[in-house]
Amino acid sequence: MSNKRASFFESVNKNFDKAATFTGLPKGLLDQIKACNAVYQMRFPVKVGNEYQVIEAYRVQHSQHRLPTKGGIRYSEHVNQDEVMALAALMTYKCAIVDVPFGGAKGGVRINPKAYTVKQLEKITRRYTAELIRKNFIGPGIDVPAPDYGTGAREMAWIVDTYTTMKHGEIDGVACVTGKPVTQNGIRGREEATGRGVFYGMRELLNNKEDCKKWGITPGTAGKTIVLQGLGNVGSFTGKISQNEGDMVIIAVSEFEGAIHNEKGIDIAELLKHRKETGSILNFPGTKILPSRDAALELECDILVPAALENQITSDNAERIKAKIIAEAANGPISADGEAILLKMGVIIIPDMYLNAGGVTVSYFEWLKNLSHMRFGRMEKRFDHNTYNNLVTTIENMTGKKIGAQERDFLTKGAEEVDLVRSGLEETMINSYNQIRETWKRKKGVEDLRTAAFICALNKISSDYMAMGIFP
Ligand code: NAD
Repeated sequence: MSNKRASFFESVNKNFDKAATFTGLPKGLLDQIKACNAVYQMRFPVKVGNEYQVIEAYRVQHSQHRLPTKGGIRYSEHVNQDEVMALAALMTYKCAIVDVPFGGAKGGVRINPKAYTVKQLEKITRRYTAELIRKNFIGPGIDVPAPDYGTGAREMAWIVDTYTTMKHGEIDGVACVTGKPVTQNGIRGREEATGRGVFYGMRELLNNKEDCKKWGITPGTAGKTIVLQGLGNVGSFTGKISQNEGDMVIIAVSEFEGAIHNEKGIDIAELLKHRKETGSILNFPGTKILPSRDAALELECDILVPAALENQITSDNAERIKAKIIAEAANGPISADGEAILLKMGVIIIPDMYLNAGGVTVSYFEWLKNLSHMRFGRMEKRFDHNTYNNLVTTIENMTGKKIGAQERDFLTKGAEEVDLVRSGLEETMINSYNQIRETWKRKKGVEDLRTAAFICALNKISSDYMAMGIFP
């Protein structure tokens, strides 16, 4: 890797600058939007076995133009300040794109979670939370974390427990973090949300006949081949939902331990079972092992879905990519120099700040649920069911024909929480894609979806800043 390559945060800002030229916004305002407002770098000790370890961790709040700020917490040995700043900035733009009324933030703890026991991870998570509370960097109206790479519902449950213990009696305390287990004030549909959003985003792009024709792609999801990098939360749900609901074919999967390939398709649910039993995706029946885990990225396919980490496609390998579309499920998987090459090659990139926004969208729904102290659907489900039931009975009476019990159940079902969450997510992903597409079509000189997405975000954020004015 060349030393001169832009850092992740510089890469995000390069894309920002490219889009900013189309907005006509004053430089001072752009500088204000671009800056990370608050960076909290911390070191705290944790006793691991008989040793004391000093843990390095971060929380970055990029923009407070809307409150609370919001963004996941990452556990990885590669966490550093630049990375957390880049991810926090992406959260600001992401929230604006999908009309989630939050500012952007991100957290990171520099550990390899696989090197610790569950008990030790709990200690680290609780201490990290205590540090955030101490500096007023967490709270339902201040800053609301969520899961990211290396964390999940388990860690979020420890965070909410620590917060509500230390802030006893705070009535909205459970809204201090999202992505919690459903039994701990979480919401149904959050775990799958990012992957489901990735599927909706790819489907929306492929549903546009006019665009597909221009790109020489047949419209629709059915039969489209996918190469998937990373089979964690985002990758596994993207794979399963694309297969089950879009009839897409996952021809290769790359994970930490290596990559597997089967042109006829790999059943992701079965592969996940195999990985659970054997600890690896390798030797999954019917697949062949590729020479290296990164070899998968260079396979011929319709859509390459990087769902692992940033900087996976750079100027080192961009020229060898054969996918027609890259769907950025991960944050920042393509470096700025890699992107320049891909765009010249005519590859269509669906940008991270739109495509993986399903997670924050459903986190927003979870936060709203926590503030309202009530499950979505509780008030209207039975009312809707009774109304539809009366309607079906009226139709039967008017026509003299009977509707079967199964059809009646289907037609009269009132929405459960998960139905409402999926519907809100689907609406968001469709709406936001069309806003981005509109800008991309309408603005002269805008050639890629990332620039168009950035322009949408910048217009919304700047109008907030202008309306707010500056304190004091
Ligand atoms: P995760 O920890 O659940 O899964 C990531 C997977 O990638 C792991 O299984 C890991 O082994 C694998 N991996 C790591 N390096 C790899 C490599 N070089 N090649 C192949 N596989 C590799 O993390 P996640 O929550 O699924 O997050 C993945 C990406 O999606 C991150 O960029 C994250 O910021 C982004 N994201 C996550 C969410 C969310 O809700 N979890 C939301 C938006 C964006």
